[in-house]
Amino acid sequence: MSEAAKKFIQREHQLWINGEWVASESQERIDVIDPSTEEVVSSISDASTQDLERCVNAAQSAFESEQWRDMKPAMRASIIHRFATLLEENLEELAYLETVDNGKPLTMSTAVDIPASAGALRYYAGWADKINGRTVNISMPGEYHAFTLREPVGVVGLIVPWNFPLVMAAMKLGPALAAGCTCILKPAEDTSLTALRIGQLGTEAGLPNGVLNVITGYGHRIGAAMSAHSGIDKIAFTGSTVTGKAIADAASGNLKKVTLELGGKAPNIILPDADLAKAIPGSAMGIFFNSGQVCTAASRLYVHDSVYDEVVEGIAEFSKTLKVGGGMDPEALLGPVISGKQLDRVMNYIDIGRKEGGEVLAGGNRIDSKGFFIEPTVIGNTDNSMQVVREEIFGPVLVAQRFSDIDEVAKMANDTDYGLSAVIWTQKLADGHRLAKRIRAGNIGINVASSADWDLPIGGYKQSGWGRENGEEGLMNYLQTKAVVASLD
Ligand code: NAD
Repeated sequence: MSEAAKKFIQREHQLWINGEWVASESQERIDVIDPSTEEVVSSISDASTQDLERCVNAAQSAFESEQWRDMKPAMRASIIHRFATLLEENLEELAYLETVDNGKPLTMSTAVDIPASAGALRYYAGWADKINGRTVNISMPGEYHAFTLREPVGVVGLIVPWNFPLVMAAMKLGPALAAGCTCILKPAEDTSLTALRIGQLGTEAGLPNGVLNVITGYGHRIGAAMSAHSGIDKIAFTGSTVTGKAIADAASGNLKKVTLELGGKAPNIILPDADLAKAIPGSAMGIFFNSGQVCTAASRLYVHDSVYDEVVEGIAEFSKTLKVGGGMDPEALLGPVISGKQLDRVMNYIDIGRKEGGEVLAGGNRIDSKGFFIEPTVIGNTDNSMQVVREEIFGPVLVAQRFSDIDEVAKMANDTDYGLSAVIWTQKLADGHRLAKRIRAGNIGINVASSADWDLPIGGYKQSGWGRENGEEGLMNYLQTKAVVASLD
């Protein structure tokens, strides 16, 4: 284990407020459990609402001081770049922290999570000096100079989940900081270590005190208090649809802005002419990557009758070759699920699937060892009325069914409360494009199961959310427009 990570894990974790460690007012602690071993490796503060007041005061003062929001844009950009560089320079430590906290293989946190998080900050550092209004040629009688300004929304609360802890934090911090907002980051109670560490790194990078505050604690208490707080101007949330609805309700008090990136149950459609040599492994990794704990996981498989058996058997066989193992196992491709609670939830869904008449074609069991490991699971013989097809499982479970023509599968794919993403496999690109237009989801891959990029907007139709993250669209959530009209008469 990285010495720096070991030292950080062993700290008596506090909160990062106004550029320094601050002990929580609360004596309550939350265990940090390594999902690969089930061992308690540390603990974090279960912060109180008084702690939240301190965060809000620090973030408000930092916003009002104008030191950050009125900083020359090129200077703001260079601080965010420096922040990204510090993530890269501390890659080994951050990757270990993420793996111990979340369970995902160290190879993945090293190659994906930490570089991607630095990438998000860099992408938005590039936006910081390109935020401009426009001049407007108005038609009112008289002579005017009219223009718009783009201004930061203010203090923003960033509430993130446990599946990609640092990536989710960075993808919100990047645009928030580029826009000139000040931030209160609340990581998930299961995975708070990297968030705490980057609080420190942000200050080291040059963020003025109070621009980035990190508070830890349970969502139903601290997350809910943030959502209702009149001193917070916006909440950006990623997590479950149920929690997203609770946040939207709580936010109505001061009508704070809310963006929600919520659950999904993405259809993965294999047309009869698909290149199966690509579609089979692509579909398997589309669901099993990160042990299925991905909001865009391609979890509902629809295969044309003519190739159904070949595809489903192919995915079942492929899934058996995927090595499931602890975070520190260099051979492991898939890690454990996040917690005992999530393990029970996923196993319960597999049981429900069996009772509903689904046929388990691969996996279906907890792996008999310490750690929250579940075999990659494929359930065939499903239909859209079944609970396992309608609800987000958020684990390594694929549900498969047949279709006979494109019109039918377009309807089946849209027959869901969700609309985050979808995947289509075909060699007839025109069919792929036509189907992509018909599917009501925010992100469609044609012959590619995962298409994330910082410049590519992501977000949900229907109950998968409000607004878009990433790209220019993601930045706009943290800005508001002011129109200024000066009479020249
Ligand atoms: P969750 O939505 O409850 O938690 C996500 C974040 O929201 C955490 O930081 C949590 O502390 C916070 N939170 C919880 N209750 C809150 C509240 N009332 N107000 C404000 N913030 C609150 O998710 P979970 O309970 O950890 O997982 C349950 C299910 O959610 C999963 O099985 C999965 O289906 C889904 N999920 C989806 C995503 C996603 O990216 N779409 C991520 C995590 C979980």
